[in-house]
Amino acid sequence: MPKPNGYTRNLFQKMRQWRHDIHRHPELAFEENRTSNMVAGLLDEWGIEVHRGIGSTGVVGILRRGTSARSIGLRADMDALGIREQNDFPHRSVHEGKMHACGHDGHTAMLLGAACHLSRQDSFDGTVVFVFQPAEEHGEGARAMLSDGLFERFPVDQIYAIHNFPSLETGFFAVRAGPIMAAEDNFEITIDGAGCHAAMPHLGRDPILIGAEIVMAMQSLVARTLNPMEHAVVSFTEFITNGTINVVPGQVILRGDTRSLTPEVQDHIETTMERIVAGICAAHGADYRFNYRRNFVPTINTVAEAAIAAQTAAAVAGAARVAGDTRPVMTSEDFGYMLQARPGAYVLLGNGAEGVGGCSLHNPAYDFNDEILTIGADFWVELVQSQLRSA
Ligand SMILES: [Zn+2]
Ligand SMILES: [Zn+2]
Repeated sequence: MPKPNGYTRNLFQKMRQWRHDIHRHPELAFEENRTSNMVAGLLDEWGIEVHRGIGSTGVVGILRRGTSARSIGLRADMDALGIREQNDFPHRSVHEGKMHACGHDGHTAMLLGAACHLSRQDSFDGTVVFVFQPAEEHGEGARAMLSDGLFERFPVDQIYAIHNFPSLETGFFAVRAGPIMAAEDNFEITIDGAGCHAAMPHLGRDPILIGAEIVMAMQSLVARTLNPMEHAVVSFTEFITNGTINVVPGQVILRGDTRSLTPEVQDHIETTMERIVAGICAAHGADYRFNYRRNFVPTINTVAEAAIAAQTAAAVAGAARVAGDTRPVMTSEDFGYMLQARPGAYVLLGNGAEGVGGCSLHNPAYDFNDEILTIGADFWVELVQSQLRSA
């Protein structure tokens, strides 16, 4: 039995090489052709059964050992962001305006490292399903894989994912039972008033005044209609009018973004928002259209699997480096859709508290911290060996 935290140490250079290669060639959602070719090629080389085209550019690898019917899914995301990279190291993006600013290059490399190691071992009994997912950033990739029958074609008892996390110390893990990342919804409110001469406002119905009232009143939604122990964010991000300097507009469009941690709060935000909009528009005799779109469900870890993830992290990093009941974060993640279908857990792995590793996700100066490749891959190996333990 290899020493904990040592399973994939000899694969470090390889993982680093794959990570830099992917970082240099970032691909946006559903365009991960080069990346998925690379993943599929390597899995195939290691004798892992490969399935392409699951959710467009998604790749699934199947590795079986022994006779057990148990199975476990390990998921990495592969897509990059439409950001112009500001770094100047040798593995800087060669595709102007595209960048791995969320560390999915590192997630892919860690899961490849684990797959390579496990393909050479006889250390488990059951089936490992390696899920290389496209298009996480826009929240469509997980759903695309699921609607292509991911879990029907490749059944798993449990599913797990790791995301690197700047601000958390290098190689530390954080997980929790229950919601760990938020739902993201977007809204658009169209207010139809009546335009008029700026000097004769009584002849129109000013939608700017109505819109401003809506923006202000909406802050009472979180502050005064939600239990203070619940978490939610309501942010207006666009206020668009068709007026000009001396003309009161006829129409205003307000857009924005909401975050919440439970489906109940998500429902509450949607219905309360529309009630506030309807009430204020009625008071002013204006018409409105309210459009509310759900993009990401909350990412909700199941209790038993969150505990399994914490134990696994403690086995590879030491208990002192694991927070088993971390605070949830209000960003979003489409792995939540996979967790609606199967029990499992989403785990945060510290990218570093300061320096390069501490640079926030989606920042043009971000880079995945290579120091955590081994610990992340070791987590995957340990998880497989403990959950698919040989008799
Ligand atoms: Zn991201
Ligand atoms: Zn990400």
